[in-house]
Amino acid sequence: MVARVAIDLALGRLFDYAVPEALEKKLAVGQLLSVPFGHREARAFLIEILDDESSGKSGDGSYSSKGSFKLKNVTAILDETPFFSPSLLTVVRKVASYTASPIEKVLRAAVPAAVLKKGARAKELFFVEPVCIKETKSLTARQKWIVENIARLGGGWLASICRELSTTPSTLKSLAARGFIKIEQKAKRRDPLAGRRIIKSSPLRLNEEQSQALAAIPVSTENRGTVLLFGVTGSGKTEVYLQAIARELSAGRGAVVLVPEISLTPQTVQRFASRFGSVVAVLHSALSDGERYDEWHRIRSGEARVVVGPRSAVWAPVRNLGLIVVDEEHETSYKQDESPRYNARDVAVLRGAIEGASVVLGSATPSLESWMNVKRGKYSFAQMKNRAGAGTLPFVRLVDMHPSTTEASKGAIFSPELLDAMRTRLDNGEQTILFLNRRGYARSVVCDSCGISVDCPKCSVPYTYHRADSCLRCHVCGGWVPVPKVCPECASTSLSFVGVGTQRVQVALTKCFPHARVLRMDADSTSRRDSHEDILGKFRRGEADILIGTQMIAKGLDFPKVTLVGVINADSSLAMAGSDFRAAERTYQLISQVAGRAGRAELPGEVFVQSRDATVPVLGYAARGDYVGFAADELKVRKECCLPPFCHLAAINFSSRDSKLVASWAEMYAKSLVNYSSVHKELLVGEAMPSPLEKADGRYRWQVVLRAPSTSLIIAAWRWIVGERPWPNELRASIDIDAFNLV
Ligand code: ADP
Ligand code: ZN
Ligand code: ZN
Repeated sequence: MVARVAIDLALGRLFDYAVPEALEKKLAVGQLLSVPFGHREARAFLIEILDDESSGKSGDGSYSSKGSFKLKNVTAILDETPFFSPSLLTVVRKVASYTASPIEKVLRAAVPAAVLKKGARAKELFFVEPVCIKETKSLTARQKWIVENIARLGGGWLASICRELSTTPSTLKSLAARGFIKIEQKAKRRDPLAGRRIIKSSPLRLNEEQSQALAAIPVSTENRGTVLLFGVTGSGKTEVYLQAIARELSAGRGAVVLVPEISLTPQTVQRFASRFGSVVAVLHSALSDGERYDEWHRIRSGEARVVVGPRSAVWAPVRNLGLIVVDEEHETSYKQDESPRYNARDVAVLRGAIEGASVVLGSATPSLESWMNVKRGKYSFAQMKNRAGAGTLPFVRLVDMHPSTTEASKGAIFSPELLDAMRTRLDNGEQTILFLNRRGYARSVVCDSCGISVDCPKCSVPYTYHRADSCLRCHVCGGWVPVPKVCPECASTSLSFVGVGTQRVQVALTKCFPHARVLRMDADSTSRRDSHEDILGKFRRGEADILIGTQMIAKGLDFPKVTLVGVINADSSLAMAGSDFRAAERTYQLISQVAGRAGRAELPGEVFVQSRDATVPVLGYAARGDYVGFAADELKVRKECCLPPFCHLAAINFSSRDSKLVASWAEMYAKSLVNYSSVHKELLVGEAMPSPLEKADGRYRWQVVLRAPSTSLIIAAWRWIVGERPWPNELRASIDIDAFNLV
């Protein structure tokens, strides 16, 4: 018998070991083993078990150890319970090949580091439990009192019982020896929900739309599949998830709920915990190593059957999986931006198909990829158009900040309408959120008189400004033009590079309203741990009148006293996004999410969207909440320009400390790829060019964008080029399949 394993120390290759007879019976794929590697012992995941004949031949040829030399023995099985079920291991392997990353990297992403870390092991502790007894005559009054109180408490950890009942471990142990109580050694669970008061909640009566949505989610194992649940903010999607999960639990199956990290707030977790109690496990980045270790083991042992967590929770080893929910499926945070560059939403769909589980993708603004999959008949569909609870959707107004028409616009940040609205809120003691979009590194050129941004004519993607050679480049096709001296639309000479920061907004605000209490939340103000929650807590308690923030505040938060939301510069999300062909889609998502913040409770909400050009179609669609119209328009553009979801797009990213080296290699690779594509005609190869983020961490960065109808075509090209021309040590190159951000 031969064990084929993945070792973290050597990427991109599996290794074979002989299995000693003593271990043969206990061996199962997905286990963690100890194997000799070089002069030391290494830990390795068992990927495949082969009989002797097939070793060295079967599997991925390049991976197996070749030749007839004698294989070394597996030293030990470190944990007999597999870390991965065979089906989850299949998911791991498919994700590795889809993302063109080594399987070891996917394995590492799938198991929390804390679980593999030595010393994170749970503390072994003693637990005291009452037992059923009738006869207590032989006990002293004091002993009787202790036994009765343990029964009243329902048991507890030895140390805390001793403290609570003012007794000693030896007293309790002697009582246990006589059978009046039980003391067991248990691993104490470090509970991330400890200390929270969880009030049990019962299922709400579903409204008509919710019932239909629930009915659209397949329960029987025969017709499993993926459903896109398209429901406006507040339509009660979470209640639908809860009841779909309850159905699976009662059938003895488990569920995974993915939420964007930013909305993994105590309130979100509370909603699941109060419905399902201790079968809920929470995985998120703020857990201590111990908590993470314990939660993960509760999942693997089958004790926890509902897992709530961000991207990485898609790998949770839930047994007998029945349902995966991906809330806010359009969120970019589901895409991991380092290797393995997987999208948890796509992994969820894949895992659902492999493990026979249903998948629900929920969103008020679905990604165009998922929308297209509904149109193609790959996903089924359910829609919820109305708010379920209190509150109505707010009224959204577009405010024209066109430089020529707004007199106050010469450098002014707020329109008179928005100023008036804020003044009213201050007078009434209500709250305002001001939203400013500043994401990405790309800078674009915008005309000060007509407000347009300069786009690539071939791709309808805003050009990105490159300082080094003072030109504008399209990050999809690689085309470029010199920075124009006059606006191509209106011939004005007043062109500027967009950029208003949150700090500038804060300063301007203080000038207009010297007495207003203002909070600011962005990447700069939230670097300290917890300050995120600090700021939101203050705002929720009414300790401030106005909150200024970036996309961080756009989603998932509920503030009953907010009745006004102002989007300072909607066009900056179009233009600042620069290279991003999803700029319009993101603008739509941001405006509707921001709008969802206002008027969630009794007070009606108002939303002002300021932009230099209020006639941009996406703004109108967003203001009216017409997703279907927007999607139809945007898909037309994507199709014409051959952009996702009508093709797959991948970025090859190069970086080096040597600016000349990275440029010449990127150009050389691009040239080879162009030659390659003359044979493989469906592959579109962009030009090599500096990345929107031209330098990071002392490394110069270049990029080549590939497009093709299938990812396998892209990966084949990538493998060919790497095989053809291995790169020098000073150069790093990686590929990002289905890239979300071109950075
Ligand atoms: P979404 O997840 O779609 O944004 P939520 O699940 O947060 O919506 O629901 C919004 C509000 O409506 C919540 O306060 C929730 O308690 C309430 N709600 C949901 N479903 C119902 C229902 N069937 N009856 C009454 N209230 C409901
Ligand atoms: Zn102009
Ligand atoms: Zn282009």
